[in-house]
This record gives sequence, structure tokens and C-alpha cells, in this order.
Amino acid sequence: MVYHVIIVGGGASGLSCALTLASSRGRGWQWAEDKRYLVFDLEGSDLRKAFLKNVPGIESIAGKELLEKIRKQIESWGGVDILQEGVVRIEKKGNLFEVEGSSGKVFNAEYVVLASGFHGFDIKGLKVEVVENPKSPKPGRVMIKHENYQVDENLFVIGTLAGLSSHFTSCAGSGVEVAIEILSRYAGKRIVIHDVP
Ligand SMILES: Cc1cc2nc3c(=O)[nH]c(=O)nc-3n(C[C@H](O)[C@H](O)[C@H](O)COP(=O)(O)OP(=O)(O)OC[C@H]3O[C@@H](n4cnc5c(N)ncnc54)[C@H](O)[C@@H]3O)c2cc1C
Repeated sequence: MVYHVIIVGGGASGLSCALTLASSRGRGWQWAEDKRYLVFDLEGSDLRKAFLKNVPGIESIAGKELLEKIRKQIESWGGVDILQEGVVRIEKKGNLFEVEGSSGKVFNAEYVVLASGFHGFDIKGLKVEVVENPKSPKPGRVMIKHENYQVDENLFVIGTLAGLSSHFTSCAGSGVEVAIEILSRYAGKRIVIHDVP
């Protein structure tokens, strides 16, 4: 099966990216309707340990509940499959990425977005530069070098793995940025996604 975008990691950044991609549907944009997205997620997001009182506009919420709410929002737009499995290998074959899960399932995609957090990076097959994460006060946290979130052709990195501050809104924001970039490429022009009452 060929997906348009595969996102590796379903935490703050990965799910925010998936939500923005999915929310391009149902707006009368012909190019958006056939797009299919896949999120691989080991379900180990740091948000699961958090109780957030500092997300702008939200009084307080358990991180786990926030993740569930984002998943429901994604479901309501449609077009996104979420697989509870880790990615072990990603290789570029021609114009497509081949993405292999730990069960041996292999999927292809035009774009890959890496969102697996800053605790480490051991996915085989990609030529990426993994360095110490300068934003984390704790040793051993990593980031992947990028330019405007782009690591290589059609390969992006977001969230703490992109070296952002470990705050929900920064990580979610990077997911939105990359989703809008990918959608704009599909549209052939810059797009915005704004909902109105
Ligand atoms: C105790 C604690 C309290 C916090 N409190 C706050 C707070 O008050 N306010 C705030 O804004 N932020 C808070 N945070 C930080 C916030 O949770 C993180 O900044 C945010 O979750 C990082 O988002 P991310 O997308 O980079 O990574 P994560 O949300 O950690 O998501 C990464 C996802 O990728 C998955 N994954 C990893 N490897 C693979 C693989 N090979 N294949 C598939 N999936 C993979 C993981 O299982 C995980 O689900 C807190 C964090 C902790 C730990």
C-alpha cells in the first residue's frame, strides 16, 4: 500500500501533523480527497506522564487525555490510519520511501515525517545526522539535523527530535508547519487551513 505521508511517532508533534494533514479534507480541494496518511506509534509519548496547566487557552488537562482528544479529532476528519507498532527501517527506493514496522509489515510513502521524540534514534536505513539535543538539560537526548524541518528530499523531522523545546505547543506547532508545507506542495501553491464558525 502506498501512503502519501507516513509519520513515525504519534505524540504531540506526530498527531498534530496528522490532524492538520487530515483537516485538508472536505474543503472542496480535489487534490486533498485521495490522500492517505499513516501514523506508526509505539504509544510511549512523554505526554502520557504529563499533567498540563500551561497550554494556552486550556485550563488543565492530563497529557493522556489530550492525546485521546487529538486522536478523536483526527478520526473525525478521516484519511489517517494509526498503527500501534514501531518503525525499524526506512529506505528511499526511487521516488518512494519503504517503511518497515517491527512486525515485518512494509508500507511505501511519498513523504516521511520523523516524530519519534528525543530519547534516541535507532531506525535503520536513513542517512541522518543524529546529534546531542542542545535544548534538553538532560544528557543523552538527541536531535536530527535539518533545515526548516527538512532533512532530505521529502523527509522531515518535527518535535523534540527536531531540537525544539520540550513543550506541547512548540512540538505541536512544528507538526502543523510541516503538514502545511506538504499540503502546499500537493496543492501546487501556498495554502492555509482556517476554520470559521
Ligand atoms: C513528566 C513530564 C511532564 C511534562 N509536562 C509538560 C507540561 O506541563 N507542558 C508541556 O507543554 N509539555 C510538558 N511535557 C513535555 C511534552 O510531553 C513533550 O514536549 C512532548 O510530548 C514532545 O512531543 P514529541 O512529539 O516530540 O514526542 P512524544 O510526544 O514523546 O512522542 C514520540 C512518540 O513516538 C513514538 N516512537 C518512538 N520511537 C518510535 C518508532 N521507532 N516507531 C514508532 N513510534 C515511535 C513514542 O512511543 C511516542 O509515542 C512534559 C513531559 C514530561 C515527561
